[in-house]
Amino acid sequence: SSFDQLGLNPSLTRAVEAELWLKPTEIQRRAIPALLDGADVWAEAPTGSGKTAAFALPLLQRLMEAEPRRPGRFAAAVVLSPTRELAVQTSGVIRSLLTYTHADTAATGPNLRSSVLHGGVSINPQLRDLTRGVDVLVATPGRLLDVVEQNGISLAETRMLVLDEADKLLNPAFAAELDAVLELLPGDFNLNTALGSDDDVDDSGAEDGLIQACLFSATFPYKTRAAAARLFRGRSPLRI
Ligand code: AMP
Repeated sequence: SSFDQLGLNPSLTRAVEAELWLKPTEIQRRAIPALLDGADVWAEAPTGSGKTAAFALPLLQRLMEAEPRRPGRFAAAVVLSPTRELAVQTSGVIRSLLTYTHADTAATGPNLRSSVLHGGVSINPQLRDLTRGVDVLVATPGRLLDVVEQNGISLAETRMLVLDEADKLLNPAFAAELDAVLELLPGDFNLNTALGSDDDVDDSGAEDGLIQACLFSATFPYKTRAAAARLFRGRSPLRI
């Protein structure tokens, strides 16, 4: 099993070669084709399993295949991280992979851009960076909400959502912030609804499917499992 067989495009295959990733890890082998296909995915993947590339590669490829970024501050893809350290690390991986996509997006539109938001530092450089346009936003929930409040970014047109280290993000300590972030997303993607009684889950499908969602988590304790299941709005994600 090699990366060639996963459906990655030439620029991302080059990126993988440049990183000296010789063959896909188990989680990459399973997650990449599913995510390229547009599936919602719920992956049990500890740190060190190659989980970052498992979501970053298909996410970038789908963005490359999508319409070029619209003017204005819309993040097409959002990766939520529970900690500043993880946000910085993930953003570094995405940035590095992005350099390989630039040659191939040049013909079709502006280069894909990523940006990272986290607390503990001044918000102003982060706001400034967003004025240059962004496709992939990596963020901790609290700072993301602050930036939205200041009209630095809009999630109204977001089409892909990744919850990294989802066991931490779905912890009750994050519930209010996560809820507020999900409220900003288009369509029926509302944790208030999701966390309500099961009867509240809208499975009409009318506005559903606007967002491709995936969770990556080392473990899924029982409580997390319940929150995650509801996060998928009653649909069944692919469990890998
Ligand atoms: P992660 O699980 O995303 O934190 O990744 C752990 C480490 O594995 C990182 O240093 C990656 O660069 C590396 N890595 C990711 N995918 C592969 C692969 N297919 N082969 C070898 N190393 C990899």
